[in-house]
Amino acid sequence: MTEKRGARNSNPARGRHGVDRRPRVAEPRHANLRVRPPPARVPRPSAALLQKKTTTIRPLRSRARFADPLSSPRRSVHSVELTPYVVTRKSDGSSTTADIPESEPSDGCHLQYRWYRSGSHKKASVCSVHPGEPAVLQNVHSKSYHCGEECFAQSWREWMRDKLARQAAGLGETAPERTPLWRPPSMKENNAGGSSSNLLSAAGGSMDFNAHHKQERANAYNGDRNKGPGKDEPETWQEVGRSKTYAATLEDVGHLLRFEVVGAENTTGEPKGGTEGFTTARVIPAPMPPRRNLVPVAHHDNPDGGKFTVLTYNVLADLYATSELYHYTPSWALSWNYRRQNILKEIVMHDADILCLQEVQSDHFEDFFQGELGKHGYTSVYKKKTTQVFSQGTYVIDGCAIFFKKDRFQLIKKYEVEFNKAALSLVESLGGSSQKKDALNRLMKDNVALIVVLEALEANGQQAPAGKRQLLCVANTHIHANTELNDVKLWQVHTLLKGLEKIAASAEIPMVVCGDFNSTPGSAAHNLLTGGRVDAAHPELATDPFGILRPPSKLQHPLPLVSAYTALTKQPCLESEAAERQRSRVDGAGTGEPIFTNCTREFFGALDYIFYTDDTLAPLGLLELPAESDVRSKYGGLPNTQSSSDHIPLMAEFQWGARQW
Ligand SMILES: [Zn+2]
Repeated sequence: MTEKRGARNSNPARGRHGVDRRPRVAEPRHANLRVRPPPARVPRPSAALLQKKTTTIRPLRSRARFADPLSSPRRSVHSVELTPYVVTRKSDGSSTTADIPESEPSDGCHLQYRWYRSGSHKKASVCSVHPGEPAVLQNVHSKSYHCGEECFAQSWREWMRDKLARQAAGLGETAPERTPLWRPPSMKENNAGGSSSNLLSAAGGSMDFNAHHKQERANAYNGDRNKGPGKDEPETWQEVGRSKTYAATLEDVGHLLRFEVVGAENTTGEPKGGTEGFTTARVIPAPMPPRRNLVPVAHHDNPDGGKFTVLTYNVLADLYATSELYHYTPSWALSWNYRRQNILKEIVMHDADILCLQEVQSDHFEDFFQGELGKHGYTSVYKKKTTQVFSQGTYVIDGCAIFFKKDRFQLIKKYEVEFNKAALSLVESLGGSSQKKDALNRLMKDNVALIVVLEALEANGQQAPAGKRQLLCVANTHIHANTELNDVKLWQVHTLLKGLEKIAASAEIPMVVCGDFNSTPGSAAHNLLTGGRVDAAHPELATDPFGILRPPSKLQHPLPLVSAYTALTKQPCLESEAAERQRSRVDGAGTGEPIFTNCTREFFGALDYIFYTDDTLAPLGLLELPAESDVRSKYGGLPNTQSSSDHIPLMAEFQWGARQW
């Protein structure tokens, strides 16, 4: 999506009600309650409570009903946290969504939570790639489940490719090293009374599964016989947690989860009022992020100089991940708790030395990315955009983050670019005050860029001796998205380049410039970046109401920037099947850029790039680009249940020093 109109509506009714400890008699009536439901896009399980008079707690709404697992919004996924939405009505008539712990009771009562796992379990026969879909096929080698022939075939090709790559690398035939694959409990135990495997197994070196699977398909999901009670037998429940939040474990996969909340009197511990709660759909295994390999595009001809990888990824801030914008994405797959696990897995899987992330929401940088990526050896710098939005009870905004492996690099210097500041000084130089005001309106976008100078560390993690120090400048930006404002985009890119030019002038230093430039190949901004100038006749220069781009001759820079992915179509290039396949995914006839890095129902094209200075760096490998059919399958675009952003990550491996050919 090039433009994200309307961040999620904030809900000012939530999070503002303090706990009033004075017991009062209230006359709650359901119709008068001002408690607002959670936003429709968030498939948050809900349990609502009503506190009546001083001690009685009554349900606010009817109980959550059990729905078919495949259509239920109460999707629960292994390792994804469930945080129920609980509303408590106080005796004074106010309501709160906050926790009421025993240490801070309200009206002498506190809330107690319980999570239970059902005794029954069902083969979680859902597709490993598309967890919203029932599985009809299994790859018995990789143990993955698939929702159809196309899905199976795609996974089969990936698996075969991975196997061949491993054989070529002399790694032997071990299981894929990445995500350990979940095996449903019922498959291990082969329950008495259950049918034998309902999933057709496709094995061996053949893909000839068509002959057999059709008759199996009909009962693959529906014909499942479950362990546990029959239709009229009561379900049994085992307690698994006492916190409000619960993350399903591997043991929970295939089982139902039940959440219950009850008010309890502090003095006696006696429950007050009824219990409220809901039951989730059967817990499904977490999806596997798409598997992508690094495709070699050159030999490492400077083995003494070392190499490093850089990944750029717009991770789609929760702020913008709305059901309005991404109406084709199952709403549960848009929830942040779900997406963040996918995104993290995907990033960690690629194991890049440097990460340039865009749309990192300020609160999520602090409470998720920093800590989680820290566990994988990364340290980080962050720059948030300069406007904030009220969302879910707090002011947040997204920004750019640069993470780097702390055993590979150390931070030497950091520069923050606020395009608003540059806009202010530019507008100062303009004429009349009304023109200034209009120009400010047009130019004052809150976009930012983050630039760091890193020093490469030696293999032992120590600084290199003087004279052998290797510096690297990394820039990360997210350029304005509005397609009507090409002059502003170009001006932002130009402003960033001027900053980089200054850094380059002070020291000869290799540069990598990454980001979501919101500019397609051939746009004025892209031309400026890769060509060092913009042709005065470029059609985008025609719209420049405040003359910020004039004269066009000023739109230039001396940095020898080249886009990493164009290496695929340059010769000589390593000839391989993988490189050949990749060439069909870049615009070979034109710019050589990826055909797309962003794919929604409304937009399809390249917006993200990794540029590098080609007099000091050379690309050795590129992360595979997916085919359009891969990202369109099932839902028609990104994000989907497997890929949790509307962008794809790009990654390049570089060697220090210019290429020798
Ligand atoms: Zn599938």
